[in-house]
Amino acid sequence: MHEFSTAQMIINTVIKVAEENNAKQVTEINLELGEFTLLNPEYLKFGLKVVAEGTIADRANINITIKPGVIHCLECGYEGETKRENLESVPHIPQLLSLKCPMCGSNATKIIGGRECTVKNIQIIT
Ligand SMILES: [Zn+2]
Repeated sequence: MHEFSTAQMIINTVIKVAEENNAKQVTEINLELGEFTLLNPEYLKFGLKVVAEGTIADRANINITIKPGVIHCLECGYEGETKRENLESVPHIPQLLSLKCPMCGSNATKIIGGRECTVKNIQIIT
C-alpha cells in the first residue's frame, strides 16, 4: 500500500526533527494531506501508528488536515480550489475522473496543487 511508504517517510522526518530538538517523546503530529494525493487518511493514520511503534513517536496524536486541490482551467483561466462540499466524506478516485472547472464547467483542467503530503508541525516533550 502506498500509505505505508508515505507513513514511513513521515515518521522518518518526524523523528529526525524530534531528535534534533532533543525530544524524549513526540506528543502530536500535524499533517496536511493534499486532496489529490490519493491517500486514504484512515489508512495513512493506521500506517503511521504501525511505523511509529517502538519509536519516540509511538504515542503521538496524529491530526490530518485535508488541503483542497488547486486546478488551472485551460478554457477560462480559472485558478484555485476545486469547489466541493464536504471534502472529507467524498471518495478520492472518482473525483479525478470528473475534475470540472467551477467557473465554466470545462473538463480541460490541470492539477497544480494538492498532491503533497507535508508535516505541518509536531509537538514534543524534551
Ligand atoms: Zn474554466
